[in-house]
Amino acid sequence: MEKAKIEKLIIIGSGPAGLTAAIYGARGNLIPLVIAGREAGGQLILTSDVDDYPGFDQGIQGPELMARMRKQAERFNTRFINEDVVSIDLKTRPFLIKTENHELRTKSLIIATGASAMWLGLPSEERFRGKGVSACAVCDGFFFKDKSVIVVGGGDAAMREVQYLSKICKNVTVVHRRDVFRAQPALIEQVKGKPNVKFLFNTTIVEFLGQDKLAGVRLKSTRDGSLSEMTIDGVFVAIGHKPNTDFLKGQLELDEKGYVVRQPADETHTKVPGVFVAGDVSDRRYRQAVTAAGAGCKAVFDVEEYLENLR
Ligand code: NAP
Repeated sequence: MEKAKIEKLIIIGSGPAGLTAAIYGARGNLIPLVIAGREAGGQLILTSDVDDYPGFDQGIQGPELMARMRKQAERFNTRFINEDVVSIDLKTRPFLIKTENHELRTKSLIIATGASAMWLGLPSEERFRGKGVSACAVCDGFFFKDKSVIVVGGGDAAMREVQYLSKICKNVTVVHRRDVFRAQPALIEQVKGKPNVKFLFNTTIVEFLGQDKLAGVRLKSTRDGSLSEMTIDGVFVAIGHKPNTDFLKGQLELDEKGYVVRQPADETHTKVPGVFVAGDVSDRRYRQAVTAAGAGCKAVFDVEEYLENLR
């Protein structure tokens, strides 16, 4: 285990929030060290065409956008460790962070580990991700213009996906495992009234079907176990997001869903002075690359103020 000097700023996470924090931190002479994780780049690595990130009038592929952000951070001498955090101690000063091969100490910390979409967990689902199966209507809905899609889930996120897709797609079928939605009544009412939206209750997807791209799904009734097949162009899985905060348990206050609790709610400060958050790891609402990037920038401003006051 290699022992390191005391850093001014460590950033955990390398999605838009973490890399924007790195760019601002590096330019502000905080000489940031980014613990990028083994799956560096965040959710955009799973997205194909990104048409809504400002500055790319012809769109950009998610992995390329992340590669460019990383190059931009490297241009200002940001250092990267491509390992996951193994343990963290926020009760000691400077903070102590261990990765597989490094023991690191830092005066300030930005947590930007993001959230991961929850998937159904079927082997065939993995095969068709990016080839008809998505977890983000805003990112991928456009590719299903005038086509038939399924949205899986019965919460607010699913209803929002249905709202969005019903304006683009020929028709949208909501597949929900129970016969009652947990979404807010107002959202349910909005989608219920749409002529191209229909509902399939007490049903789950048990297999995604097709050759090179998705062509259909095998459905199972949660009532009697009966199986059926449905031809479909796309499936949007909207069964929730899970913030990547398992490594923070017992160190930082998390809400009941695992999101980092901010203090005050509209800032990047956490309950531990010197520890800041940016992006989806504490954002249940906006969850966009551009809002995460904005939060990364804000977090660095707050770090600078914190470090100034330490002197
Ligand atoms: P959620 O409220 O936890 O709903 C997840 C839905 O997915 C539930 O209907 C659940 O079914 C279903 N589900 C979970 N696991 C499943 C599985 N393995 N197979 C099939 N279905 C499964 O998650 P969310 O909709 O992402 O919302 C998360 C939070 O963000 C909530 O607090 C929500 O209010 C908030 N949010 C708000 C808005 C808004 O516009 N205000 C938009 C998005 C999110 P069951 O109902 O049977 O459990």
